[in-house]
Amino acid sequence: MLSHEVKQSDALLNLRSYVGRFAPSPTGPLHFGSLLTAVASYCDAKANYGQWFVRIEDTDIPRIYPNSEAHILSCIDAFQFEPDAEIIFQKDRFEIYEQALEQLKQFDAIYACQCTRKMLGSNHIYAGTCRDLNLEFADQAIRLKVTDQQICFEDRLQGRQCSDLQHELGDFVLKRRDGIISYQLAVVIDDYLQGITHVVRGADLLDNTARQIWLGSLLGYPSLSYMHLPLAMNDQGQKLSKQNLAQALDIAQAPKLLQQAILALGQPAVELNQPRIMLQQAVQQWDVNLIPKGEYLTGTYL
Ligand SMILES: [Zn+2]
Repeated sequence: MLSHEVKQSDALLNLRSYVGRFAPSPTGPLHFGSLLTAVASYCDAKANYGQWFVRIEDTDIPRIYPNSEAHILSCIDAFQFEPDAEIIFQKDRFEIYEQALEQLKQFDAIYACQCTRKMLGSNHIYAGTCRDLNLEFADQAIRLKVTDQQICFEDRLQGRQCSDLQHELGDFVLKRRDGIISYQLAVVIDDYLQGITHVVRGADLLDNTARQIWLGSLLGYPSLSYMHLPLAMNDQGQKLSKQNLAQALDIAQAPKLLQQAILALGQPAVELNQPRIMLQQAVQQWDVNLIPKGEYLTGTYL
């Protein structure tokens, strides 16, 4: 009897320890693809009695698009998502990322790279040119060393994923020469510091996951659960993105757009109502097994 009770409370503890997040970059206004990620990460967290946080990934200051941060915040409000903590902004956290770089430096896990874009050419796997040059860190790009090993993880939707660190990815940049902290570094540190346990995001970020697992393991961080969602496409068969000018979410159409997102995720329809009520119903009905498999959605969306 006793062992059975212990098991039950363990199960409850696991359920209660879900912490998820939605982490958009303000490099353009939110579009329908962003809404899919917001809805899926929210419903999955809430259906597992978890917490859900919002984090604005605005380290890449030159690429920040005017007013897109305000648009993200107004969408969170209009779609009536209720984050369980104050929204954090990565641009306020540079000291934290610098501390992690210092830690990695002590592990001899990083080095300065003086290669220019021209020297690197079109080869996106870095050849390790500066690895053993012991260059000063100031005013150079900072790269993380990888070793000759495979990183594998079980994606909840996409199945088992493996990447060869050295031959497929190469030593990668954590800080650019212009001082910008890379997405890879900021995301790993903030997922850890916010106590994130489950990552739900678009399949366009699948390729980055092995790098992030590697970096997290070097820093001694616990591993995360991953689910990469299929991407919404436009009517030209391109994935919706800020680069191909996907239409900004129209907050005046929030209930309609929310319903479309829920349906695109393969979930049963909800009754049209205030977004908060629609989200509650979507959480009650949430079934991960209904999400379309693969990296792309077949229908076309806004
Ligand atoms: Zn170099």
